[in-house]
Amino acid sequence: MKRPVHVLLVGAAGRMGRTVVDLVKNDPKIQIVAQCDLGEPIDPAMKNCDVAMDFSHADAITEICRTALHHHKSLVIGTTGHSQEQRRLIEGAAQSLAIVFAPNFSIGVNALFWLTREAAELLDSDFNPEIIETHHKMKKDAPSGTAKTLAKILKTARKMRSEVPIQSIREGDVVGEHTVIFGGSGERVELTHRAASREIFARGALRATHWIIGKPPGLYSMQDVLGL
Ligand code: NAD
Repeated sequence: MKRPVHVLLVGAAGRMGRTVVDLVKNDPKIQIVAQCDLGEPIDPAMKNCDVAMDFSHADAITEICRTALHHHKSLVIGTTGHSQEQRRLIEGAAQSLAIVFAPNFSIGVNALFWLTREAAELLDSDFNPEIIETHHKMKKDAPSGTAKTLAKILKTARKMRSEVPIQSIREGDVVGEHTVIFGGSGERVELTHRAASREIFARGALRATHWIIGKPPGLYSMQDVLGL
């Protein structure tokens, strides 16, 4: 694409929305052509964008999917905390649209996903997996979308029937911390990612926005974007 990618930002007034707006100021290849927040209609703004980026609330997804399908636009979804039904809506929309749906856009966390899969396969079943996640007090959903993805990776790698225990801590202004613990007898392995700034998520979301241009319909993850 010769001109900048035109982006609609949903949840523009929030912590992540504001971080994206700041970062785009230094990216001449992306232009935010419309911003929406709670109570503002999405449909008119959707018409004029190439990609809609969502950092809002899970409840916004019905309107986002409906309007994106109507105008045939790609989606980059960073919002977490969707219900089963809302996730099915996203999967349904991905039959016709290219969608990147990522609970965490940071490169480090996506490396943690990969390392967790490797460690789960390497360590035998004596090493019991457990997840601890810590976020700021304002975070709406618990456990975090990232912790749920880590649990899914562990369950699949270990072919587990039981759920992986997740401990969620909400305190202060912590941007986001995730630790996967493999507790064995007499030893344990811990894999930790600590986010120090929201910029890492915004940078990843912009990378996904560039990547999705021209992609065929489908539901893509950040692992697809990074080629992991
Ligand atoms: P926030 O509460 O600071 O901001 C959310 C914004 O969305 C608010 O301005 C709110 O008014 C708005 N909003 C709420 N409902 C809306 C609706 N129906 N339509 C339009 N706007 C609506 O939250 P935040 O910290 O910016 O996080 C936003 C979302 O992004 C959360 O789900 C969070 O878990 C997720 N998140 C994802 C990543 C990632 O890498 N994927 C990173 C950080 C946060």
